[in-house]
Amino acid sequence: MSEPFIITSVREMKERAAAARAEGATISFVPTMGFLHEGHASLMREGRRRGDLLVLSIFVNPTQFGVGEDFESYPRDLGRDRRIARDCGVDIIFAPPAREMYPAGFQTWVNVETVSLPLCGASRPGHFRGVTTVVAKLFNIVKPSFAFFGEKDYQQLTVIRRMVADLNMEVEIVGMPTVREPDGLAMSSRNSYLSSAERQSALCLSRALYSASTLYRSGVVSVAALREEVLGILEREPDARVDYVEFRDGESLEEREVADDHTLLAVAVRIGTTRLIDNVIVGRGITWKEKC
Ligand code: AMP
Repeated sequence: MSEPFIITSVREMKERAAAARAEGATISFVPTMGFLHEGHASLMREGRRRGDLLVLSIFVNPTQFGVGEDFESYPRDLGRDRRIARDCGVDIIFAPPAREMYPAGFQTWVNVETVSLPLCGASRPGHFRGVTTVVAKLFNIVKPSFAFFGEKDYQQLTVIRRMVADLNMEVEIVGMPTVREPDGLAMSSRNSYLSSAERQSALCLSRALYSASTLYRSGVVSVAALREEVLGILEREPDARVDYVEFRDGESLEEREVADDHTLLAVAVRIGTTRLIDNVIVGRGITWKEKC
């Protein structure tokens, strides 16, 4: 595999993408904040399969972090990311500095309303406004045919789909399943914050999702009962502090009191100082290597 080409300027990225399109190439695009893992790799591989030119962006987007959040300490390792990207067949890494994306005078925001409000939108005010703004900008710069997002960030995927539909953007959004460690922990760049004891405690998230979706699949549809199951598991973990446990429609994100096959169970839990999120569509359930 050849080394991906690194671009840091918006103008150069636009020119390269336009030249590829002019030659009839379809562009696959995977937006990330870097510190790549197998979850990102699954998106890149699917992008490689679907498009002629595969563009990966690595940008720790300041506008989606709140005051006191981990923007400064967010893990970064461009050398390692470049090797992983190369192994996944990435052609171009777009890694702009913040001043390229937000030059002096910047004042325009993209805000998706209803689906941005609950869940992480409630815990992290302004987060999705930062996400949709940067993703809209990236789409305008790269103009991809396909863009790949993980179901790990289920609400983000829902919000992006809404933005693309509402603003008539010409990009197909491809949602990809959550990639897990062999013991069930959903892969995340933030897992690197966890001590080994916390890493063990963090398994309560996938365990709780597994238990509740198994209960649902055995016939329990009462959200009160399913929630009790989830909270029972999370609250037994001394290191865990629950941010939210919510049951919502998998498309509209409206709250549900009775679960059906399309109900999303989403959780956010702090393990020590690290905030982790995970989710399952209860009708699908989840599995991982050691549970196969
Ligand atoms: P991030 O770098 O955390 O902003 O994530 C970039 C993209 O990778 C987003 O679309 C995420 O949903 C996706 N992603 C992150 N973790 C996983 C995972 N464990 N499985 C699948 N996709 C993931």
